[in-house]
Amino acid sequence: MDITAQSVWNNCLSFIKDNIQPQAYKTWFEPIIAVKLSDNALSIQVPSKFFYEWLEEHYVKILKVALTKQLGETAKLVYVIKMENTYGNKQPFTEKIPSSNRGAMKSQDVDVPLNNKNPELKNPFIIPGIRNVKIESQLNPNYSFENFLEGDSNRLARNAGLAVANKPGGTSFNPLLIFGGVGLGKTHLAHAIGVDIKDKYPEKTVLYISAEKFTQQYIDSVKKNNRNDFIHFYQIIDVLIIDDVQFLSGKSGTQDVFFHIFNHLHQNGKQVILTSDKAPVDMQDIEQRLLSRFKWGLSAELQSPDFETRVSILKNKLYRDGVEMPDDIIEYVAKHIKTNVRELEGAIISLIAQSSFNKKEITVNLAKEIVEKFVKNTKREVSIDYIQKVVSDYFQMDVSTLQSKTRKRHIVQARQLAMFFAKKYTKASLASIGSQIGKRDHATVLHACKTVDNLSSTDKQFRKYVEDLSKKLSL
Ligand code: ADP
Ligand code: MG
Repeated sequence: MDITAQSVWNNCLSFIKDNIQPQAYKTWFEPIIAVKLSDNALSIQVPSKFFYEWLEEHYVKILKVALTKQLGETAKLVYVIKMENTYGNKQPFTEKIPSSNRGAMKSQDVDVPLNNKNPELKNPFIIPGIRNVKIESQLNPNYSFENFLEGDSNRLARNAGLAVANKPGGTSFNPLLIFGGVGLGKTHLAHAIGVDIKDKYPEKTVLYISAEKFTQQYIDSVKKNNRNDFIHFYQIIDVLIIDDVQFLSGKSGTQDVFFHIFNHLHQNGKQVILTSDKAPVDMQDIEQRLLSRFKWGLSAELQSPDFETRVSILKNKLYRDGVEMPDDIIEYVAKHIKTNVRELEGAIISLIAQSSFNKKEITVNLAKEIVEKFVKNTKREVSIDYIQKVVSDYFQMDVSTLQSKTRKRHIVQARQLAMFFAKKYTKASLASIGSQIGKRDHATVLHACKTVDNLSSTDKQFRKYVEDLSKKLSL
Protein backbone atom coordinates (compact mmCIF):
# COMPACT_ATOMS: atom_id res chain seq x y z
CA MET A 1 0.00 0.00 0.00
CA ASP A 2 1.16 3.44 -0.85
CA ILE A 3 2.09 5.51 2.16
CA THR A 4 0.95 9.05 1.64
CA ALA A 5 1.07 12.13 3.82
CA GLN A 6 -2.66 11.79 4.18
CA SER A 7 -2.65 8.18 5.30
CA VAL A 8 0.18 8.72 7.77
CA TRP A 9 -1.56 11.72 9.22
CA ASN A 10 -4.90 9.95 9.40
CA ASN A 11 -3.31 7.23 11.47
CA CYS A 12 -1.68 9.80 13.71
CA LEU A 13 -5.02 11.51 14.12
CA SER A 14 -6.87 8.43 15.19
CA PHE A 15 -4.22 7.76 17.79
CA ILE A 16 -4.33 11.36 19.02
CA LYS A 17 -8.10 11.39 19.06
CA ASP A 18 -8.17 8.48 21.45
CA ASN A 19 -5.82 10.18 23.82
CA ILE A 20 -7.00 13.75 24.22
CA GLN A 21 -10.21 15.58 25.03
CA PRO A 22 -12.65 15.67 22.09
CA GLN A 23 -12.87 19.45 22.31
CA ALA A 24 -9.13 19.86 22.20
CA TYR A 25 -8.96 17.47 19.30
CA LYS A 26 -11.52 19.47 17.40
CA THR A 27 -9.83 22.76 18.11
CA TRP A 28 -6.23 21.84 17.55
CA PHE A 29 -6.13 18.86 15.24
CA GLU A 30 -9.06 19.04 12.90
CA PRO A 31 -7.85 22.24 11.27
CA ILE A 32 -4.50 20.69 10.40
CA ILE A 33 -3.90 19.60 6.83
CA ALA A 34 -1.26 17.06 5.93
CA VAL A 35 0.59 18.41 2.92
CA LYS A 36 3.66 16.38 2.16
CA LEU A 37 5.65 13.31 3.04
CA SER A 38 9.23 13.05 1.95
CA ASP A 39 12.41 11.65 3.50
CA ASN A 40 10.44 10.39 6.44
CA ALA A 41 9.35 13.95 7.20
CA LEU A 42 5.68 14.74 7.38
CA SER A 43 4.67 18.32 6.63
CA ILE A 44 1.52 19.54 8.26
CA GLN A 45 -0.11 22.86 7.60
CA VAL A 46 -1.37 24.94 10.50
CA PRO A 47 -3.34 28.19 10.31
CA SER A 48 -1.12 30.49 12.32
CA LYS A 49 2.10 30.81 14.20
CA PHE A 50 0.16 30.93 17.41
CA PHE A 51 -1.36 27.61 16.47
CA TYR A 52 2.02 26.11 15.87
CA GLU A 53 3.29 27.38 19.19
CA TRP A 54 0.29 25.98 20.96
CA LEU A 55 0.79 22.56 19.44
CA GLU A 56 4.41 22.71 20.41
CA GLU A 57 3.66 23.55 23.96
CA HIS A 58 0.79 21.25 24.57
CA TYR A 59 0.84 18.39 22.14
CA VAL A 60 4.40 17.84 21.15
CA LYS A 61 4.67 14.67 23.16
CA ILE A 62 1.65 13.01 21.68
CA LEU A 63 2.63 14.16 18.21
CA LYS A 64 5.99 12.54 18.64
CA VAL A 65 4.53 9.28 19.86
CA ALA A 66 1.97 9.19 17.08
CA LEU A 67 4.43 9.97 14.36
CA THR A 68 7.08 7.59 15.62
CA LYS A 69 4.54 4.82 15.57
CA GLN A 70 3.95 5.53 11.91
CA LEU A 71 7.37 6.36 10.59
CA GLY A 72 9.82 4.99 13.11
CA GLU A 73 12.50 6.67 15.17
CA THR A 74 13.81 8.79 12.31
CA ALA A 75 10.46 10.49 11.83
CA LYS A 76 10.44 14.22 11.37
CA LEU A 77 7.69 16.74 11.54
CA VAL A 78 7.61 19.91 9.50
CA TYR A 79 5.15 22.67 10.18
CA VAL A 80 3.87 24.79 7.37
CA ILE A 81 2.30 27.91 8.71
CA LYS A 82 -0.27 29.05 6.29
CA MET A 83 -1.89 32.22 7.42
CA GLU A 84 -5.18 31.96 5.75
CA ASN A 85 -8.40 33.09 7.19
CA THR A 86 -9.64 31.31 10.17
CA TYR A 87 -10.60 27.91 9.02
CA GLY A 88 -14.04 27.23 7.86
CA ASN A 89 -14.53 30.63 6.32
CA LYS A 90 -14.17 31.01 2.65
CA GLN A 91 -14.49 34.73 2.71
CA PRO A 92 -11.30 36.59 3.30
CA PHE A 93 -11.16 39.22 5.96
CA THR A 94 -11.91 42.58 4.54
CA GLU A 95 -10.04 44.63 7.08
CA LYS A 96 -7.09 46.45 5.63
CA ILE A 97 -4.10 45.78 7.76
CA PRO A 98 -0.67 46.96 6.79
CA SER A 99 0.74 43.76 8.10
CA SER A 100 2.82 40.95 6.83
CA ASN A 101 0.57 38.82 8.94
CA ARG A 102 -2.33 39.43 6.71
CA GLY A 103 -2.30 36.64 4.28
CA ALA A 104 -5.80 36.07 3.17
CA MET A 105 -5.31 33.23 0.73
CA LYS A 106 -1.97 34.62 -0.24
CA SER A 107 0.43 31.93 0.65
CA GLN A 108 2.84 32.88 3.37
CA ASP A 109 4.15 29.47 4.03
CA VAL A 110 6.87 29.27 6.54
CA ASP A 111 8.52 25.93 6.46
CA VAL A 112 9.79 25.03 9.83
CA PRO A 113 12.11 22.14 9.41
CA LEU A 114 13.13 20.18 12.41
CA ASN A 115 16.75 20.94 11.87
CA ASN A 116 16.03 24.38 13.09
CA LYS A 117 17.05 26.73 10.31
CA ASN A 118 14.86 29.35 11.80
CA PRO A 119 16.06 30.02 15.33
CA GLU A 120 12.80 31.61 16.35
CA LEU A 121 10.83 28.45 15.78
CA LYS A 122 11.87 25.65 18.04
CA ASN A 123 12.28 22.00 17.34
CA PRO A 124 8.85 20.62 18.08
CA PHE A 125 10.21 17.47 19.58
CA ILE A 126 11.84 19.24 22.44
CA ILE A 127 9.25 19.15 25.12
CA PRO A 128 8.99 22.52 26.73
CA GLY A 129 7.97 23.10 30.30
CA ILE A 130 4.28 22.99 30.92
CA ARG A 131 2.92 26.45 31.09
CA ASN A 132 -0.38 26.89 32.74
CA VAL A 133 -2.69 28.66 30.37
CA LYS A 134 -5.59 30.04 32.25
CA ILE A 135 -8.06 32.60 31.12
CA GLU A 136 -9.58 34.74 33.83
CA SER A 137 -13.32 34.92 33.42
CA GLN A 138 -13.70 38.58 34.41
CA LEU A 139 -16.94 37.68 36.13
CA ASN A 140 -18.38 39.51 39.07
CA PRO A 141 -19.51 36.90 41.63
CA ASN A 142 -21.90 39.41 43.20
CA TYR A 143 -24.05 39.24 40.13
CA SER A 144 -25.73 35.91 40.67
CA PHE A 145 -29.04 34.37 39.72
CA GLU A 146 -29.92 34.21 43.35
CA ASN A 147 -30.03 37.95 43.69
CA PHE A 148 -31.49 38.55 40.27
CA LEU A 149 -35.12 38.67 41.25
CA GLU A 150 -37.66 37.26 38.92
CA GLY A 151 -40.73 39.13 37.73
CA ASP A 152 -42.91 39.36 34.65
CA SER A 153 -40.51 41.90 33.23
CA ASN A 154 -37.58 39.50 33.10
CA ARG A 155 -39.04 36.01 33.32
CA LEU A 156 -38.20 34.90 29.81
CA ALA A 157 -34.68 36.28 29.86
CA ARG A 158 -33.92 34.96 33.32
CA ASN A 159 -35.19 31.46 32.55
CA ALA A 160 -33.45 31.33 29.22
CA GLY A 161 -30.32 32.34 31.10
CA LEU A 162 -30.80 29.50 33.54
CA ALA A 163 -31.32 27.03 30.72
CA VAL A 164 -28.15 28.21 29.04
CA ALA A 165 -26.24 27.95 32.30
CA ASN A 166 -27.39 24.35 32.72
CA LYS A 167 -26.33 23.36 29.25
CA PRO A 168 -24.01 25.90 27.71
CA GLY A 169 -23.97 25.47 23.94
CA GLY A 170 -26.52 22.71 24.26
CA THR A 171 -29.77 24.61 23.94
CA SER A 172 -31.32 26.37 21.01
CA PHE A 173 -30.66 29.64 22.81
CA ASN A 174 -27.40 30.19 21.03
CA PRO A 175 -26.66 32.98 20.88
CA LEU A 176 -28.70 34.22 23.79
CA LEU A 177 -29.27 37.91 23.25
CA ILE A 178 -30.52 39.87 26.24
CA PHE A 179 -31.76 43.31 25.38
CA GLY A 180 -33.42 46.21 27.15
CA GLY A 181 -32.96 49.77 28.36
CA VAL A 182 -30.34 51.06 30.76
CA GLY A 183 -30.28 49.84 34.30
CA LEU A 184 -32.65 46.95 33.73
CA GLY A 185 -30.20 44.20 34.61
CA LYS A 186 -28.54 43.12 31.35
CA THR A 187 -25.05 43.16 32.77
CA HIS A 188 -26.18 41.51 35.97
CA LEU A 189 -27.94 38.69 34.16
CA ALA A 190 -25.05 38.14 31.74
CA HIS A 191 -22.65 37.76 34.67
CA ALA A 192 -25.08 35.51 36.52
CA ILE A 193 -25.10 33.08 33.60
CA GLY A 194 -21.32 33.06 33.48
CA VAL A 195 -20.97 32.66 37.24
CA ASP A 196 -23.41 29.76 37.25
CA ILE A 197 -21.62 28.02 34.39
CA LYS A 198 -18.27 28.38 36.15
CA ASP A 199 -19.91 26.85 39.18
CA LYS A 200 -21.34 23.89 37.35
CA TYR A 201 -18.57 23.39 34.82
CA PRO A 202 -15.33 24.61 36.38
CA GLU A 203 -13.32 23.25 33.46
CA LYS A 204 -15.08 25.43 30.93
CA THR A 205 -13.41 28.59 29.77
CA VAL A 206 -15.83 31.44 30.32
CA LEU A 207 -15.06 35.00 29.35
CA TYR A 208 -17.04 38.14 30.04
CA ILE A 209 -16.06 41.22 28.11
CA SER A 210 -17.70 44.48 27.14
CA ALA A 211 -17.98 45.14 23.45
CA GLU A 212 -16.00 48.29 24.07
CA LYS A 213 -13.06 46.45 25.54
CA PHE A 214 -13.28 43.82 22.85
CA THR A 215 -13.04 46.56 20.25
CA GLN A 216 -10.06 48.08 21.99
CA GLN A 217 -8.26 44.76 22.15
CA TYR A 218 -8.94 44.20 18.51
CA ILE A 219 -7.57 47.58 17.52
CA ASP A 220 -4.48 46.90 19.62
CA SER A 221 -3.99 43.54 17.98
CA VAL A 222 -4.08 45.14 14.56
CA LYS A 223 -1.53 47.71 15.66
CA LYS A 224 0.72 45.07 17.14
CA ASN A 225 0.36 42.80 14.18
CA ASN A 226 -1.09 39.91 16.10
CA ARG A 227 -4.60 39.84 14.83
CA ASN A 228 -4.46 36.09 14.30
CA ASP A 229 -3.55 35.58 17.91
CA PHE A 230 -6.42 37.77 18.95
CA ILE A 231 -8.82 35.69 16.90
CA HIS A 232 -7.36 32.51 18.16
CA PHE A 233 -7.62 33.54 21.74
CA TYR A 234 -11.34 34.09 21.32
CA GLN A 235 -11.81 30.89 19.40
CA ILE A 236 -10.70 28.74 22.28
CA ILE A 237 -13.34 30.07 24.64
CA ASP A 238 -16.27 27.86 25.61
CA VAL A 239 -18.65 30.54 26.79
CA LEU A 240 -18.23 34.02 25.40
CA ILE A 241 -20.25 36.83 26.95
CA ILE A 242 -20.16 40.17 25.17
CA ASP A 243 -21.90 43.05 26.90
CA ASP A 244 -23.43 46.00 25.07
CA VAL A 245 -22.95 44.82 21.50
CA GLN A 246 -24.67 47.96 20.25
CA PHE A 247 -21.25 49.48 20.79
CA LEU A 248 -20.09 47.65 17.68
CA SER A 249 -22.39 49.71 15.49
CA GLY A 250 -20.50 51.44 12.74
CA LYS A 251 -17.28 49.60 13.60
CA SER A 252 -16.97 47.39 10.58
CA GLY A 253 -13.51 46.00 11.30
CA THR A 254 -14.51 44.78 14.73
CA GLN A 255 -17.80 43.46 13.41
CA ASP A 256 -15.93 41.52 10.79
CA VAL A 257 -13.57 39.90 13.25
CA PHE A 258 -16.41 39.19 15.63
CA PHE A 259 -18.33 37.57 12.80
CA HIS A 260 -15.55 35.08 12.26
CA ILE A 261 -15.10 34.38 15.93
CA PHE A 262 -18.83 33.95 16.33
CA ASN A 263 -19.02 31.48 13.46
CA HIS A 264 -16.19 29.45 14.80
CA LEU A 265 -17.64 29.25 18.29
CA HIS A 266 -21.12 28.52 17.06
CA GLN A 267 -19.96 25.79 14.71
CA ASN A 268 -18.12 24.17 17.55
CA GLY A 269 -21.06 24.16 19.90
CA LYS A 270 -19.72 26.92 22.12
CA GLN A 271 -22.13 29.26 23.84
CA VAL A 272 -22.38 32.93 22.96
CA ILE A 273 -24.26 35.38 25.17
CA LEU A 274 -24.82 38.94 24.07
CA THR A 275 -26.48 41.97 25.58
CA SER A 276 -27.69 45.05 23.82
CA ASP A 277 -29.73 48.13 24.57
CA LYS A 278 -31.89 47.44 21.52
CA ALA A 279 -33.61 44.54 19.83
CA PRO A 280 -31.76 43.25 16.76
CA VAL A 281 -34.35 44.83 14.45
CA ASP A 282 -33.57 48.23 15.89
CA MET A 283 -29.81 47.99 15.76
CA GLN A 284 -28.28 50.41 13.36
CA ASP A 285 -25.03 50.15 11.47
CA ILE A 286 -24.56 46.50 12.30
CA GLU A 287 -23.88 44.31 9.30
CA GLN A 288 -26.78 42.23 8.10
CA ARG A 289 -24.88 38.97 8.35
CA LEU A 290 -24.18 39.65 12.03
CA LEU A 291 -27.73 40.73 12.75
CA SER A 292 -29.06 37.58 11.18
CA ARG A 293 -26.80 35.52 13.42
CA PHE A 294 -27.94 37.42 16.49
CA LYS A 295 -31.39 36.16 15.62
CA TRP A 296 -30.36 32.51 15.32
CA GLY A 297 -30.86 31.86 18.98
CA LEU A 298 -33.17 33.66 21.33
CA SER A 299 -33.60 37.39 21.83
CA ALA A 300 -35.08 37.99 25.25
CA GLU A 301 -36.13 41.40 26.45
CA LEU A 302 -35.72 42.87 29.90
CA GLN A 303 -38.54 45.30 30.54
CA SER A 304 -39.07 47.80 33.28
CA PRO A 305 -40.06 45.86 36.38
CA ASP A 306 -43.61 46.12 37.64
CA PHE A 307 -44.42 47.41 41.10
CA GLU A 308 -44.28 44.00 42.80
CA THR A 309 -40.92 43.19 41.32
CA ARG A 310 -39.58 46.60 42.31
CA VAL A 311 -40.68 45.96 45.87
CA SER A 312 -39.03 42.56 45.96
CA ILE A 313 -35.82 43.90 44.45
CA LEU A 314 -35.71 46.55 47.15
CA LYS A 315 -36.50 44.12 49.93
CA ASN A 316 -33.86 41.74 48.74
CA LYS A 317 -31.28 44.48 48.57
CA LEU A 318 -32.10 45.67 52.09
CA TYR A 319 -32.02 42.16 53.40
CA ARG A 320 -28.61 41.52 51.90
CA ASP A 321 -27.34 44.77 53.35
CA GLY A 322 -28.80 43.91 56.72
CA VAL A 323 -30.99 46.99 56.85
CA GLU A 324 -34.54 47.01 58.12
CA MET A 325 -37.02 49.38 56.65
CA PRO A 326 -40.77 49.73 57.09
CA ASP A 327 -42.88 48.44 54.24
CA ASP A 328 -44.64 51.74 53.61
CA ILE A 329 -41.31 53.38 52.85
CA ILE A 330 -40.20 50.62 50.55
CA GLU A 331 -43.50 50.88 48.77
CA TYR A 332 -43.24 54.62 48.51
CA VAL A 333 -39.86 54.36 46.80
CA ALA A 334 -41.02 51.52 44.54
CA LYS A 335 -44.06 53.49 43.55
CA HIS A 336 -42.16 56.58 42.51
CA ILE A 337 -39.11 55.18 40.81
CA LYS A 338 -40.34 53.10 37.97
CA THR A 339 -38.20 52.86 34.94
CA ASN A 340 -34.89 51.63 36.06
CA VAL A 341 -33.52 49.23 38.66
CA ARG A 342 -30.26 51.10 39.00
CA GLU A 343 -32.14 54.26 40.02
CA LEU A 344 -34.24 52.27 42.40
CA GLU A 345 -31.17 50.94 44.14
CA GLY A 346 -29.60 54.40 44.08
CA ALA A 347 -32.58 55.91 45.87
CA ILE A 348 -32.67 53.27 48.55
CA ILE A 349 -28.93 53.55 49.12
CA SER A 350 -29.11 57.28 49.57
CA LEU A 351 -32.05 56.81 51.88
CA ILE A 352 -30.02 54.46 54.05
CA ALA A 353 -27.03 56.77 53.91
CA GLN A 354 -29.06 59.84 54.81
CA SER A 355 -30.64 58.18 57.77
CA SER A 356 -27.41 56.78 59.14
CA PHE A 357 -25.26 59.87 58.57
CA ASN A 358 -27.77 62.22 60.04
CA LYS A 359 -29.04 59.78 62.62
CA LYS A 360 -32.47 60.44 61.23
CA GLU A 361 -35.16 57.88 61.50
CA ILE A 362 -36.30 56.63 58.16
CA THR A 363 -39.75 58.06 57.68
CA VAL A 364 -42.02 58.42 54.73
CA ASN A 365 -41.20 62.12 54.78
CA LEU A 366 -37.51 61.47 54.49
CA ALA A 367 -38.23 59.02 51.69
CA LYS A 368 -40.30 61.67 49.96
CA GLU A 369 -37.50 64.17 50.23
CA ILE A 370 -34.98 61.79 48.79
CA VAL A 371 -37.14 60.45 46.03
CA GLU A 372 -37.97 64.01 45.04
CA LYS A 373 -34.34 64.93 45.02
CA PHE A 374 -33.61 61.85 43.04
CA VAL A 375 -36.26 62.56 40.51
CA LYS A 376 -35.32 66.23 40.39
CA ASN A 377 -31.63 65.46 40.14
CA THR A 378 -32.12 63.33 37.14
CA LYS A 379 -34.56 65.81 35.67
CA ARG A 380 -32.07 68.60 35.96
CA GLU A 381 -29.95 66.83 33.37
CA VAL A 382 -32.63 67.35 30.79
CA SER A 383 -31.36 70.47 29.12
CA ILE A 384 -31.82 71.30 25.49
CA ASP A 385 -28.22 70.30 24.90
CA TYR A 386 -28.82 66.99 26.56
CA ILE A 387 -31.92 66.39 24.46
CA GLN A 388 -30.03 67.11 21.27
CA LYS A 389 -27.31 64.75 22.37
CA VAL A 390 -29.72 61.95 23.18
CA VAL A 391 -31.67 62.40 19.95
CA SER A 392 -28.59 62.54 17.76
CA ASP A 393 -27.05 59.54 19.51
CA TYR A 394 -30.25 57.64 18.98
CA PHE A 395 -30.17 58.33 15.26
CA GLN A 396 -26.40 57.94 15.22
CA MET A 397 -25.60 61.34 13.87
CA ASP A 398 -23.60 64.24 15.22
CA VAL A 399 -25.30 67.09 16.97
CA SER A 400 -23.97 69.35 14.21
CA THR A 401 -25.75 67.22 11.62
CA LEU A 402 -28.94 67.45 13.60
CA GLN A 403 -28.59 71.23 13.66
CA SER A 404 -27.57 71.60 10.03
CA LYS A 405 -29.67 73.18 7.33
CA THR A 406 -30.16 70.00 5.38
CA ARG A 407 -33.61 68.90 4.28
CA LYS A 408 -32.82 65.21 4.29
CA ARG A 409 -35.86 63.54 5.73
CA HIS A 410 -34.28 61.54 8.52
CA ILE A 411 -32.29 64.53 9.71
CA VAL A 412 -35.32 66.78 9.61
CA GLN A 413 -37.22 64.23 11.66
CA ALA A 414 -34.47 63.99 14.24
CA ARG A 415 -34.41 67.78 14.51
CA GLN A 416 -38.18 67.93 14.90
CA LEU A 417 -38.05 65.31 17.61
CA ALA A 418 -35.39 67.27 19.46
CA MET A 419 -37.61 70.35 19.31
CA PHE A 420 -40.63 68.41 20.44
CA PHE A 421 -38.82 67.02 23.46
CA ALA A 422 -37.28 70.37 24.29
CA LYS A 423 -40.79 71.78 24.43
CA LYS A 424 -42.02 68.86 26.48
CA TYR A 425 -39.18 68.57 28.99
CA THR A 426 -37.90 72.11 29.47
CA LYS A 427 -39.44 75.43 30.31
CA ALA A 428 -37.71 77.13 27.40
CA SER A 429 -39.79 79.27 25.04
CA LEU A 430 -40.36 78.27 21.43
CA ALA A 431 -38.02 81.02 20.34
CA SER A 432 -35.31 79.93 22.69
CA ILE A 433 -35.66 76.30 21.63
CA GLY A 434 -35.42 77.35 18.00
CA SER A 435 -32.32 79.40 18.54
CA GLN A 436 -30.58 76.56 20.37
CA ILE A 437 -31.50 73.89 17.86
CA GLY A 438 -29.93 75.05 14.65
CA LYS A 439 -30.92 78.73 14.84
CA ARG A 440 -34.55 78.35 13.77
CA ASP A 441 -37.46 80.61 14.58
CA HIS A 442 -40.36 79.92 16.91
CA ALA A 443 -42.72 79.05 14.04
CA THR A 444 -40.43 76.24 12.96
CA VAL A 445 -40.47 74.82 16.46
CA LEU A 446 -44.22 75.04 16.65
CA HIS A 447 -44.52 73.30 13.32
CA ALA A 448 -42.10 70.61 14.54
CA CYS A 449 -44.18 69.92 17.63
CA LYS A 450 -47.34 69.57 15.55
CA THR A 451 -45.63 67.31 13.04
CA VAL A 452 -44.36 65.03 15.78
CA ASP A 453 -47.84 64.85 17.30
CA ASN A 454 -49.33 63.98 13.93
CA LEU A 455 -46.74 61.46 12.91
CA SER A 456 -46.76 59.67 16.19
CA SER A 457 -50.46 59.00 15.84
CA THR A 458 -50.23 57.88 12.21
CA ASP A 459 -46.83 56.30 11.74
CA LYS A 460 -45.92 53.24 13.77
CA GLN A 461 -42.17 53.52 13.26
CA PHE A 462 -42.26 57.15 14.22
CA ARG A 463 -44.25 56.41 17.33
CA LYS A 464 -41.53 53.96 18.30
CA TYR A 465 -38.95 56.74 18.00
CA VAL A 466 -41.00 58.90 20.32
CA GLU A 467 -41.43 56.10 22.82
CA ASP A 468 -37.78 55.12 22.79
CA LEU A 469 -36.66 58.69 23.19
CA SER A 470 -39.17 59.39 25.95
CA LYS A 471 -37.78 56.44 27.83
CA LYS A 472 -34.23 57.63 27.38
CA LEU A 473 -35.07 61.15 28.42
CA SER A 474 -37.32 60.41 31.35
CA LEU A 475 -34.69 58.56 33.38
P1 ADP B 1 -27.88 47.23 32.54
O1 ADP B 1 -26.66 46.45 32.22
O2 ADP B 1 -29.11 46.70 31.87
O3 ADP B 1 -27.74 48.69 32.35
P2 ADP B 1 -27.31 46.37 35.25
O4 ADP B 1 -27.19 44.91 35.02
O5 ADP B 1 -26.07 47.14 35.43
O6 ADP B 1 -28.19 47.03 34.09
O7 ADP B 1 -28.31 46.57 36.47
C1 ADP B 1 -28.38 47.77 37.21
C2 ADP B 1 -28.54 47.45 38.69
O8 ADP B 1 -29.81 46.90 38.92
C3 ADP B 1 -27.53 46.43 39.17
O9 ADP B 1 -27.07 46.81 40.43
C4 ADP B 1 -28.31 45.14 39.25
O10 ADP B 1 -27.81 44.31 40.26
C5 ADP B 1 -29.70 45.64 39.56
N1 ADP B 1 -30.75 44.78 39.04
C6 ADP B 1 -31.28 44.80 37.80
N2 ADP B 1 -32.23 43.88 37.65
C7 ADP B 1 -32.34 43.25 38.84
C8 ADP B 1 -33.18 42.20 39.34
N3 ADP B 1 -34.10 41.60 38.56
N4 ADP B 1 -33.00 41.82 40.62
C9 ADP B 1 -32.09 42.42 41.39
N5 ADP B 1 -31.28 43.41 40.99
C10 ADP B 1 -31.41 43.84 39.74
MG1 MG C 1 -24.83 47.06 31.44
